[in-house]
Amino acid sequence: MSHHTNPEQTLYRGRFAPSPTGPLHFGSLVSALASYLDAKKQHGSWIIRIEDVDGTRCKSSFTEQITKTLDSYQLFSDESIRVQSQHINIYEQQLSELKKQQIVFPCNCTRQSLAKYSGNHPTECPSTLNTPHSWRLKTSSKIYQCQDSIQGTLLFTEDLKNNCPVLKRKDGFFSYQLAVVVDDHFQNISHLVRGADLIETTAQQLHLYDLFGWIPPNICHIPLITNHSGDKISKQNHAKPIKNGHLPTLLRALHYLKIDLLEPSSITEALSLAIEAWDASKLKEIKNLPLEEQDLHFI
Ligand code: GLU
Repeated sequence: MSHHTNPEQTLYRGRFAPSPTGPLHFGSLVSALASYLDAKKQHGSWIIRIEDVDGTRCKSSFTEQITKTLDSYQLFSDESIRVQSQHINIYEQQLSELKKQQIVFPCNCTRQSLAKYSGNHPTECPSTLNTPHSWRLKTSSKIYQCQDSIQGTLLFTEDLKNNCPVLKRKDGFFSYQLAVVVDDHFQNISHLVRGADLIETTAQQLHLYDLFGWIPPNICHIPLITNHSGDKISKQNHAKPIKNGHLPTLLRALHYLKIDLLEPSSITEALSLAIEAWDASKLKEIKNLPLEEQDLHFI
């Protein structure tokens, strides 16, 4: 593995990277706050990035709505907001790198032809460039490890073995996996603080860092917010948008991060007290954060 030293890496640069497939919901506010508080506690920068590479699911109206909501909670990006769909050429360039290394291959498989592998794509297939094709990454027997300051050591032994993930889709859109790694690297992001639902994406991301010869950022995952039936709250299970700039909502979100504040008078005050109180290690023992009764009407 080549380890290029990156002088910028000593500075804390965090980010919140929502996909604009719907408005911000309570769970995404908690994630945004965790990444923000961690960055600010360490006197770092915090940057918003809109992950809208999936042109079939993302809408610019959601981007607007999300940024308005973040503004209303005074979660302001320290740099101009990066919008992935405006940087497609850089993903294409990095895909070319992988083509040169011959670790990606074109694939004409269809959802039907892959159905027998329950959505996975286990090995390289005989495909042609002449018909519509995606680009997939070959499998690998490498094992990756990540020191997650909340979850502990994450060891990924099987994640890369039986599946060749798509990096560029047949319809021309790049995958989250490629775009997130390329952007975190080129934006010099030093710390990822994100939801535990993304643990399953981590091994492929560490693998891409390795293939590009880049140093991965520090990564930690906050416990998942679940609804009363134990499912992750997400747009898929109808999480409702949150109210803009609503102090009680902010306090509830902080409560999930183990920060309870006594009657701050404003969002500004709540945030500055929360920065002082933030301690990621308090989240260590918690598997998930079930929503409380009084929060149900927020989602
Ligand atoms: N865009 C991803 C999402 O909304 C999150 C990316 C990340 O934090 O790595 O699920």
